[in-house]
Amino acid sequence: MDIFQEARITDETLDPPDWTDAEALSHRIVQDAIGYLKDVRERPVWREMPAEVRSFFTTSLPRSPAPLVEVYDDVARNVMPYPMGNIHPRFWSWYMGSSNFTGALGDFLAAIQGSNLGGGNHAAGLMDSQVVNWCKEMVGFPASASGTLVSGGSMANIIGLTVARNVKAGVDVRERGVGAIPRPLRYYASDQVHSCHRKAMEALGLGNRALRRIPSDAGLRIDMAALKAAVAEDRAAGFRPACVIGTAGTVNTGAIDDLQALAALAAEEDLWFHVDGCIGALIAIAPENGSLVAGIERADSIALDPHKWLHAPFEAGCALVRDAAAHRTSFAVTPEFLESAPRGLASGEWLHDYGLQTSRGFRALKIWMALKEHGVEKFGRLIDQNIAQARYLTGLIEAEPALELMAPTTINIVSFRHRLDGASEESLKAFNTEIMLRLQEEGIAALSDTTVQGRHCLRAAIANHRTRREDLDLAVREMLRLGREIEAAAPV
Ligand SMILES: *Cc1c(COP(=O)(O)O)cnc(C)c1O
Repeated sequence: MDIFQEARITDETLDPPDWTDAEALSHRIVQDAIGYLKDVRERPVWREMPAEVRSFFTTSLPRSPAPLVEVYDDVARNVMPYPMGNIHPRFWSWYMGSSNFTGALGDFLAAIQGSNLGGGNHAAGLMDSQVVNWCKEMVGFPASASGTLVSGGSMANIIGLTVARNVKAGVDVRERGVGAIPRPLRYYASDQVHSCHRKAMEALGLGNRALRRIPSDAGLRIDMAALKAAVAEDRAAGFRPACVIGTAGTVNTGAIDDLQALAALAAEEDLWFHVDGCIGALIAIAPENGSLVAGIERADSIALDPHKWLHAPFEAGCALVRDAAAHRTSFAVTPEFLESAPRGLASGEWLHDYGLQTSRGFRALKIWMALKEHGVEKFGRLIDQNIAQARYLTGLIEAEPALELMAPTTINIVSFRHRLDGASEESLKAFNTEIMLRLQEEGIAALSDTTVQGRHCLRAAIANHRTRREDLDLAVREMLRLGREIEAAAPV
């Protein structure tokens, strides 16, 4: 046997043994996927997994092959029927987008092309930069600004807070570390700030205490007078006030800090102005509500989340930095194995110079395709639609004596609870939690809960392009029914 013949016999590959079979199965998968989305409204939002499904996930490492059709059947039986539920029209838990079919096709094609967006001279890299440019345009950032697509808002915030640290440190913090910073840095945000900022402060080596939580006012926005006092106090005590984080849409209630006032204060006090716009930055594209985030374009850096209000399939976040040079000098490293070449594959931009990852997925395609198909104006209208739906739900709650609004509705988050006459805060919490759990377990709707100014409440965050007003009517009706049932079973 000659060596070429031998190679043909022994060289293995992951490609399908028979492309015709692969094609037939793929058609079936696409057909099932379309049916899955088309009928999503008819299925429960969420359901508990039976024991046999749970134990399916404890099977051991497969050592020998199985036909792909059987592998798919396993997925169809054990995975697809038990989703988190955020693509369902009555999912309003926490805060996330509801994905979209075009984006799913984008993820598929991105994986088929398989490109690595760490950089290089290829089309996916150019598309990645184009989507970043579109994000700048959506929030009113100048074309000269910089940015990068990352896994989500948490990473996008880390990018912004890192550049802030490096710019304000007063030493070469990349080379010498945080221990060399002459005056300890202080960051500021309201007490409503998202928990990812704590992790960011820890990861940056500054520590959680370096992020001062400033009290929020009755509207749950940062109290500007308290912020100014804190900055003055820290300066007097020898700290270096470095960065103020404004939140455009808090995760608890959707409150939007006074971005104009924060921009002005940052300029006066020589602070980096970072906006956590994971929820609200994209309101800038909404024709009716865009003015709510006026001032965001004055930020030094912004974190935004295409997997929230652009409904990109997970994961997709975006960090924008006004000063492109400051962004690049915070992350760029050129190892000998990633040097640029004058032409060819290595002549493109190294996109890994703008963040922490080296290899990067082709996140841009799913965002790009959906933006191209629908146009940014439609995404803006969908944001307005969710905000109008939240106002509608607020109206239903205010009109219903058994329910009570717990925080002002600014955008698309409604905080409320079911009343219970004469009940303590503790039993109110237990009662409302039970309503929330039964809504989930009966597959009716998914809400979450939180604590606002010390009081427990239920929370509906409507970031969902499938929600209709009738879904909100139904949810309110069912909450009242469950309230009656729970109260009748165990009166307070
Ligand atoms: C969702 C959210 C984050 C975190 O974003 P991820 O995409 O979940 O990492 C940060 N801040 C706010 C205000 C958020 O709503």
